[in-house]
Amino acid sequence: MNERLALSEELYRRALEVIPGGVYGHQNPELLTRGSHPLFISRAEGCRLEDPDGNSYIDLLCSYGPMVVGYRNPRVEQAAAAQLARCDSGNLPAPNMVELAERLVAMTPGADWAMFAKNGSDVTTWSLALAREATGRDLAVTVRDTYHGVHGWCNKQERGFLDSERSATASFAWNDLDELDSLFAAHPDRIAAVMVTPFRHEAGQPSVMPAQGFLQGIRELCTRHGAVLVVDDVRAGFRLHMGGSTQLCKVAPDVLLYSKAMANGYPLAAMLGNKALERAASRVFVTGTFWTQAAPIAAGLATLDELEATGAVAHMERVGRRLVEGLAGQAAEAGLTVTVSGPPALPFMTFDDDRRGFAPGSFVRSRSFAGACAEGGVFLHPLHNWFLSTAHTEADIDEILSVTRTAFETVAAGV
Ligand code: PMP
Repeated sequence: MNERLALSEELYRRALEVIPGGVYGHQNPELLTRGSHPLFISRAEGCRLEDPDGNSYIDLLCSYGPMVVGYRNPRVEQAAAAQLARCDSGNLPAPNMVELAERLVAMTPGADWAMFAKNGSDVTTWSLALAREATGRDLAVTVRDTYHGVHGWCNKQERGFLDSERSATASFAWNDLDELDSLFAAHPDRIAAVMVTPFRHEAGQPSVMPAQGFLQGIRELCTRHGAVLVVDDVRAGFRLHMGGSTQLCKVAPDVLLYSKAMANGYPLAAMLGNKALERAASRVFVTGTFWTQAAPIAAGLATLDELEATGAVAHMERVGRRLVEGLAGQAAEAGLTVTVSGPPALPFMTFDDDRRGFAPGSFVRSRSFAGACAEGGVFLHPLHNWFLSTAHTEADIDEILSVTRTAFETVAAGV
């Protein structure tokens, strides 16, 4: 056992006694580099984390996205604390729910209303119910192998779910408009919604940007066939554009979904839609005990303030670019072939020679690299794309690059 992680490992041993799988879902430590990554986080500030053993790390995962203006951001924490001091969970929503809806509608081209929930999965599933109610059709079309959450219709693992839950879905390949066109032809008047992410960001694979005209083409096909275009901006939202990530290609969806970064770590998700869908949205009964909590909404408003005040999108692009250019240069110097992919604000790096998949022996180089980074005090994920925040400065990126240089040498020595 790595003595540096003794307390983390001890906590994990205790977790295995009382929590099925120890730590479940995407935070299971087996998905990271076991023996090098900590298994728990005790505290965080800005872009830095501390594990239970007192080791510190510069973070490139941002809690898988939410921490867009840095951990414990003062503006966000003060706003959340002030609302907590008034009321959080109440019999009725707080006034700030209206304020956040007005704010999102004002800043989002094509959006006329907003509704709130907690997680990305809440709003991806909810948007399909809305599309079905609005169109009277049943089929939901997604890009093959895209992650939209954990509900039965889209859960990537089949255990515990029924085939029938997936029977009203169909899929096409990313960047293949012809295949989507064929789906519309094969299922006339059946496709209620087409759901896409603004770029392709699947675990373990290089991210892929939309080809020229791809998102516009989907927009046209949806309009022509009367299907609802849903953009799942849960992962990328507020890192690429403040009006929805597909604004980069000037595409306005019918429904836009946000979650991760919208309240800097407080649980909040939003579904925004256009006028044509408003009545259907009010007819679909959806709710959750905690969906109207006011402190996360206050955090959401403050996060938007902070993003706007700091020129966040441009900042994350700039520091992200510094990171990926540095990584590409270091990999070449170490004689390793890597693919640096995705927008700089949500970058990712894969080793071209790695075996992919989840069987033992897969992603050996990515895991070795991420493990060496963790040993050196940088927390990044071997399989999942990374995230920048406004808390990352150019000096932080340089500090990260001084660690990754050694990490590439470790990988090269093991090849
Ligand atoms: N859609 C996308 C694109 C996501 O990245 C995620 C989460 N990784 C989800 C939906 C599901 O969000 P949640 O985990 O909050 O349910």
